[in-house]
Amino acid sequence: MSATSPYIGRFAPTPSGHLHFGSLLAALASYLDARHHQGIWLVRMEDLDLPRNKPGAAQQILDTLHAFGLDQDGEVWVQSDRQAYYADQIQALIDQGQAYYCDCSRSDLAPFQGIYPGTCRERHLPAAPHHAVRVLTKGSTCEFVDRLQGPFRQQLEAEVGDFVIRRRDGIVAYQLAVVMDDIAQGVTDVVRGADLLDSTPRQLWLYKLLGAPAPRYLHIPLVVRQQGEKLSKRLGSAGLDITLAEDTLFTALAALYQRPPATLRGASIREQLAWASRHWDPLRLPATLEVPQESLPIS
Ligand code: GLU
Repeated sequence: MSATSPYIGRFAPTPSGHLHFGSLLAALASYLDARHHQGIWLVRMEDLDLPRNKPGAAQQILDTLHAFGLDQDGEVWVQSDRQAYYADQIQALIDQGQAYYCDCSRSDLAPFQGIYPGTCRERHLPAAPHHAVRVLTKGSTCEFVDRLQGPFRQQLEAEVGDFVIRRRDGIVAYQLAVVMDDIAQGVTDVVRGADLLDSTPRQLWLYKLLGAPAPRYLHIPLVVRQQGEKLSKRLGSAGLDITLAEDTLFTALAALYQRPPATLRGASIREQLAWASRHWDPLRLPATLEVPQESLPIS
């Protein structure tokens, strides 16, 4: 794979627990999309939210990816190694008047239902360790076309408001770190779960502020159980059993609507991934997904 590859994708797990079936689907989709385009596939550990990190989870995620044949190109980046870069960028945004300190508490903001009302915009609060930092969203409307979900539009200021890039507890917010790292790693294609669709306008706004071209996006539908249906232990929210990796990979390909031929069942990980990389077609996925286990599509 050359460094000039026009496609760079990534999987960016948070080490807050085991890699479960849902996150395997996200990893697999981003991997297959990258490999289908002869691209580079990176793995980045998003471990900034220290209180959410579970000891051992980062290694467990990497081991599980490896057991499923999802081997990344190059080194795994770890966000906690990059604190100085985030701090410099936050300071630069403050110096440019694009971000400001905020001392609003959770209870101050409770009546506004998640939309920041701009309370601290003009207060010019000084730096203080317990102040959050928010980015200005004045007049911003974000529009983009997701490869699967289609057009998505958000009036950022009215629907979200100035959002946090450094939390009150000093932790750099996911929104900023993910954008800075995707820029630094030259990521051209973000393939991830649709739970993050709603975050994308905030991220696009940051791309604009940081003067970098935005990647393409593909948000894959989340697997939800049908009402009353229990996911089996193998596919539930527990860690994946890597001794069953071949079977689980086959199920994952079917869950991604790739219609793996029945003859691929029981094939090696390598064979399944080779078949799936060649035939990868994300547009087979429905925009929203509710997969009853017994009717996973195979051909
Ligand atoms: N770290 C985020 C998560 O695990 C995903 C980041 C991303 O793919 O943009 O939910």
